Amino acid sequence: MTIAPEQEAAIFAHFHDVHIDHDNIAHYQGLMDGRLLINRCADCGFWIYPHRPMCPRCRTWNVVPTQVSGRGKLYMWTLIYQSRDPDKPLFEPILTAAIELDEQPGLRYLSRVVNIPAEHLQHDIPLQLTWIEERGRRWPAFEPATAGSD
Ligand SMILES: [Zn+2]
Repeated sequence: MTIAPEQEAAIFAHFHDVHIDHDNIAHYQGLMDGRLLINRCADCGFWIYPHRPMCPRCRTWNVVPTQVSGRGKLYMWTLIYQSRDPDKPLFEPILTAAIELDEQPGLRYLSRVVNIPAEHLQHDIPLQLTWIEERGRRWPAFEPATAGSD
């Protein structure tokens, strides 16, 4: 996937505090556009996350950022109590999770979980993609799936 230099500059400026490289820049461009993109092998269809340029199953470099359905289930979660930025302390813990996406067993995207208290979480509950605003940026998050959302 080729990204024009002016687009690259906009992505780097928007995510100025994120480590962006050749392997994940399309993912972040997707976030700016409100789309969750995960690399997928165009030869064998294998989904690849964390972002890597080569398919670990068939070893091709023919990997294409591809939009996922946004549906999955809760695999594991934790509460983060410490801010990464010492100038911005957390006033409530952040619920962070690995969500196993419906696209492929074992494809687990790391994200926030919102709109559910932590004490109500259970392994394998169905989740759906939503978006949250934080410090002027839009981020993917997951919330309990609503009936008939699929
Ligand atoms: Zn492959």
